[in-house]
Amino acid sequence: MFLAGFGRCLVYRTSKTTLKRYANQTYDRVLGPKVDAETKKPIWKHLPLNSDGIAAPGVKVDVRQVLINKSMPSITTSLPTEAEAQIAEQPYKEVPVVHKGILPSYVERVMVAPNAEESTLIKLLMRQTRRPEVGDKFSSRHGQKGVVGLIAEQVDLPFSNEGIIPDLIMNPHGFPSRMTVGKMIELLAGKAGVLTGKLKYATAFSGDKVQDISEDLIKCGFNYQGKDCMTSGITGEPLQAYIFFGPIYYQKLKHMVVDKIHARARGPRTVLTRQPTDGRARDGGLRLGEMERDCLIGHGTSMLLLERLMLSSDAFDVDVCGKCGLMGYSNWCHFCKSSSNIASIRMPYACKLLFQELQSMNVVPRLKLAKYFE
Ligand SMILES: [Zn+2]
Repeated sequence: MFLAGFGRCLVYRTSKTTLKRYANQTYDRVLGPKVDAETKKPIWKHLPLNSDGIAAPGVKVDVRQVLINKSMPSITTSLPTEAEAQIAEQPYKEVPVVHKGILPSYVERVMVAPNAEESTLIKLLMRQTRRPEVGDKFSSRHGQKGVVGLIAEQVDLPFSNEGIIPDLIMNPHGFPSRMTVGKMIELLAGKAGVLTGKLKYATAFSGDKVQDISEDLIKCGFNYQGKDCMTSGITGEPLQAYIFFGPIYYQKLKHMVVDKIHARARGPRTVLTRQPTDGRARDGGLRLGEMERDCLIGHGTSMLLLERLMLSSDAFDVDVCGKCGLMGYSNWCHFCKSSSNIASIRMPYACKLLFQELQSMNVVPRLKLAKYFE
C-alpha cells in the first residue's frame, strides 16, 4: 500500500462521568488544574484542563493526561465507622477521567447536563486522525477484506505506461477460492468508465457485458483483459507479467491495530483462581492454549511448559503433610496435629483450589510425597 491520503480516517470516542450526590449530603466535585508550587503553572497531567477542571474543545490531550479532574468524598455513607472517621482527615479522593490508549486525541465537544437521577453528567467527544498502518483492515465491496502487509515508498511501487502507481496491491491468490468475479468486473468496468467518461450499469438485475467493456478499453488503446504493462519501481525494468490494473472502490474497516495492540508482562490477576485476567481491557495475559501446549509437549520442552503453565501464571506454595497427604497451613498439619512431616510443594493455585473444592464435597484427594515412599 502507498500512502497519499488514502485510508485516512477520523475516529470519535466519548468519555463520560457523572457527579453524584451521596446519602450524607456530600457530592463529587470537579476542581481546576493542580498547579506546580514553584512555577505556578499547571502540572503536566492537568495541562489540557480549563479553569473549570474539564478539558476544553480544541485542546490536544496526550496519553494519561486528565480530561475531567473529578474527586469524590472518601466517606459516602451517612454513618461513618471508626475507620472511616480516620480517613475523614482527607475528605476527598481523586478519581480523574484520564485519556487512555496509545495515541493523543483532540477534544471535539464538551457537554455538561443534569441526568434523570438529578446528578450532573459530563461528556467529552474525542477525535483522532489516523493514517493507515500495517495491520489495518480494508475491504472492497465484494467481501474481499484484508489487512495491510506493507506500506511502501512511492518510488518503490510499480508504475504503468501512463505513470500511474497503485494505491494498493492485492495478491491474486485471493480470487480462486472466494470466486469474487464481481470485483474483476468492477475493475474492468471502472477502468473503461474512467477512460470513456461514461457511467456503467451495475445493478443486480442486468449490467454491461464484459465484452462491451473490453471493446471500450481497446478503443482507448488498452488491453481488452484490463491488464497493463508495468515497470518495477525498484529495478526500473518491466515486470515479467502483465498486471490486472484498475480502479476499485475500497473502504476502511473499523478494525485498526491501535485499538487491538496488547502485551503484558506482569499485571492483574483474578481473585478466585489467581490466574492472570483475560482480555485487553483488563490488561490480561496471552493464553498459552491447548494446541500450543501440545506443541511444547511434542518438542519435549518440559521446563518451558512448567514456566508457561505455572510459574508465569498461578504458582503457589502449599504445605503438604507427608503422613496423611492433606494440605496444611503455616507448617502445621491440622489433621495430624503435628508439624513433623510437613513439606512445601509448589503447585498451581487452581490445583490447590480444586482439592479444596473436592474436600468441600467430601471427596478427599491425598498428595503422596515421593520422598516418603523411597
Ligand atoms: Zn497430616
